Amino acid sequence: MYDYDLLVVGSANADLVIGVERRPAAGETVLGSDLVVHPGGKGANQAVAAARLSARTALLARVGDDAYGRLLLDTQREAGVDNAGVLVGGAPTGIALITVDPSGDNSIVVSPGANGRLTPQDVRDAAGLLRASRVVSTQLEIPLETVVEIVRNLPSGTRFVLNPSPPMPLPAEVLAACDPLIVNEHEARVIAGCELEGSPEDWATALLACGPRSVVVTLGERGALVATGASDDAPGVLTRVPSVKVDAVDTTGAGDAFTAALAWRLGTGATLPEAAAYAARVGAAAVTRPGAQESYPTAEEVAAL
Ligand code: ATP
Repeated sequence: MYDYDLLVVGSANADLVIGVERRPAAGETVLGSDLVVHPGGKGANQAVAAARLSARTALLARVGDDAYGRLLLDTQREAGVDNAGVLVGGAPTGIALITVDPSGDNSIVVSPGANGRLTPQDVRDAAGLLRASRVVSTQLEIPLETVVEIVRNLPSGTRFVLNPSPPMPLPAEVLAACDPLIVNEHEARVIAGCELEGSPEDWATALLACGPRSVVVTLGERGALVATGASDDAPGVLTRVPSVKVDAVDTTGAGDAFTAALAWRLGTGATLPEAAAYAARVGAAAVTRPGAQESYPTAEEVAAL
C-alpha cells in the first residue's frame, strides 16, 4: 500500500511579474506596474495540479529560508500537497523575473537558486518517500545528476514519468526508465538530437528508438499522441488522443497540468492512452483560465468539461 499516488521531484519558483511599456536598454531605468508574485516552477506546478485533482501528492524540492520559500510552502499546503519532502535553505528560493510588455510578450530571467541545490544526496535521503510513492514524476529544472539519482534509486514497481523541460540531451539510463517520456515538439527535437521530419507519429517513433518505454507527444490544441514500445508479447502501438475544444485564455502551465494528471491516472491503473485522454481534459480546462497554478481544475471541474 502506497502513502502517495504521486511524488513530484522538481523545482519551486516564485514568479515575479511586472508589466512595462517597454524594456529598459542597458544602463536605463523604466517604471513598471505593481509587482505580482505567482507560485511557479514546473515541480510545484505539477504537485499542485495533481493535488487539486485529489491525488495524494508529495513534493521533493528545495526552497530558500526566505519569504518566497515560505510563500511557496503555504501555497503547496493549501493545495493539499504534502511538504514533508521540501528541503529549506542552502540558497535563496528560485526566482523568475518576468517583464510583460503591452503586446503580451515576456522577457524572463531565471535564478535557479535552491532548485540548483537539490542534490543526489537529497534523493538518497528521501528513499522512504520514493518507496511510499506509486509514481514518481520529474522535469529538468533541477540538476541532471539529481534526475539520474532518482532513476538509480527508483524502487521496483514504482513508475517513472519525465517531462524533459527545459530540454537537454539525456543519458541512456534516464531515457530507459521513462514510462512515459512526455514531450512537446521542441523538446522532442532536442531529445531526439536531430530535426524531426514528417508527422508526430514519425517523431514518436524516432523518440521510442532513443530508449524510453513509452512516449507521449503533446500537441497543444491538437491534443496528444501516445506511443507504447514494442515488447516480447506486444507490438508498439500509436494512439491519437483528441483535444477537448475550449476557449483558450492562457496556455501557461498546461503542459505541467497534463503531465501531473497523466502520472496520477497511471498510478490508479489506467492504461497510457486512458491516462493521456484524461490529462488532455485537464490540460484543456487549465487553458480556460489565466495563470498556471491558479488555472488548475478540480476533478469535478474536469468531469463537467
Ligand atoms: P507549456 O506551455 O506548459 O510548456 P506544453 O507545450 O508542454 O505546454 P501543450 O501541448 O501546450 O504542452 O499542452 C499540453 C496539453 O494540454 C495538450 O496536449 C492538450 O491536451 C492540452 N491543451 C493545450 N492547449 C490547449 C488548447 N488550446 N485547447 C485544448 N487543449 C489544450
